[in-house]
Amino acid sequence: MNLILKNAPYYFRGNVLRSDLVISEGKIIQMGKVSSRDFPGFERWDCGNMLVLPGFIDSHLHLEALAQALEDLDLRDCVSLQEVLSKVAKFAEKLPQGAWITGGRWNKNNWEKKVFPTKRALDSVTKEHPAMLWSKDGHALWLNSLALQILHIDRETPDPPGGKILKEEDGEPSGILLENAADIYGGKFAHPESKGSDLKRATRYLLERGITGVNWFLEKGEEPFSLFSRLDALDLEIDLTIWFPRESLESVLKSRLKSGDGSQRVKLGGIKLFADGALGSQSAFMLEPYEGLSNSGIEVTPRRELEEIIRVLAPREVAVSVHAIGDAAVRNSTLAFFPFRDLNSKLRNRVEHVQLIQPQDRKTFSESGLLASVQPIHAISDREMACRLWGERVRYSYPYRSLLDLGIPVAFGSDAPVEEPSPLKGIYAACTRKTPFIEEDPFLPQEALTLSQALDAYTFWGAWSMYQEKAKGEIALGRKADLVLLSENIFRLPLSQMGKARVLLTISGGKIFRPDL
Ligand SMILES: [Zn+2]
Repeated sequence: MNLILKNAPYYFRGNVLRSDLVISEGKIIQMGKVSSRDFPGFERWDCGNMLVLPGFIDSHLHLEALAQALEDLDLRDCVSLQEVLSKVAKFAEKLPQGAWITGGRWNKNNWEKKVFPTKRALDSVTKEHPAMLWSKDGHALWLNSLALQILHIDRETPDPPGGKILKEEDGEPSGILLENAADIYGGKFAHPESKGSDLKRATRYLLERGITGVNWFLEKGEEPFSLFSRLDALDLEIDLTIWFPRESLESVLKSRLKSGDGSQRVKLGGIKLFADGALGSQSAFMLEPYEGLSNSGIEVTPRRELEEIIRVLAPREVAVSVHAIGDAAVRNSTLAFFPFRDLNSKLRNRVEHVQLIQPQDRKTFSESGLLASVQPIHAISDREMACRLWGERVRYSYPYRSLLDLGIPVAFGSDAPVEEPSPLKGIYAACTRKTPFIEEDPFLPQEALTLSQALDAYTFWGAWSMYQEKAKGEIALGRKADLVLLSENIFRLPLSQMGKARVLLTISGGKIFRPDL
């Protein structure tokens, strides 16, 4: 592709500049004013009324789960158990007898009765099919009786470490598994291996939303070399930095790969660990119990254990990412990383989510040199639940501005398929702390970011977080021409109007991707 973006307003380090951008073989080969005689044969587009941004980077998502979610039963928008069950029933009708019903993304926090559903409710619409449905946050699994039977889960089955099999008063399993229990049994009957075409469909879906690079948190353990060569062969058209689960620790060490190693497209991130669960399932690990409950969540990996693993990986130059949502988990992970404060920034060690951090822990976090990988859409979609379950503490939640003010690098993502991977929605949420197109008071407006801060979190820091900052994340001569063209110059719109802007097209690896309108 040979292309000149004429007269293009483009974003660069907090400013909107204007230039012609000459693109060839997927790179920006010239900037400045280009005369009509130069570059014969190049296509020319006038971009005067648009805004050109570096391709967005989603710093935390699950690509295979996203691919699956695009085809699975999606219960995310259901507002009652009744609605969930009727959708399940309809979905089951189309399946052959005995086939598994998978998917889910149900969110009990949106229902009238905010309690976990039961196997019996599911049994009422799934007589002929085993059903296994994940909660929206991916930390709880809802099974029907047939699925429990196939997986040999009964009253005698013990809780695995770091997990719970909820039981009813009579001692029988209720149909809900939490944390490690969900992962173990959910993984036992894993989805059929995602086909290449599914991943391609998922990456196209991302490209249409402006995303040209992602940190992919793998759904299951893999051997790095075989995964990398499989992905390179698929030619997925976006850049991927891969984070392996703990079960792959040995095979990652054996590969001798360091973080940032790999091909141009596919790189090693590191190892991801879990300090706790999630808010929606009340398994995020809290210093004090949830409001009105006696439960303080689940400590999935204790601090000492986190620290031991970092101690093994740091000298091998393999980064660690720790999932931490509750304030106790954030404190544990910050303290686990603290002894490595001279290395954390170089390795790009990071904490995922950081949904609640006590003020006294912010300084330790910043001194540790850690990256905060956060999902701004969570701040608005979790709002009601966070206020209800955290009470007064909620004022320390989703504290993006406070983190930035301490000099902490902040990278944005969606945790897709948990949230829709839409950077424009994320930017809107980060800057306004409101849901688009809904009249509401902003949620903790003191934590709102400027537009430049939000863009940097979706571009510059995203590129850095995926070891790609030399190739992308900024619009500059010699960089990859991984770009997004927006329909409007959002810097000229009042924040409230920003929802109007659309991704017109995305350029990645010398190809053009347009959203289906
Ligand atoms: Zn995630």
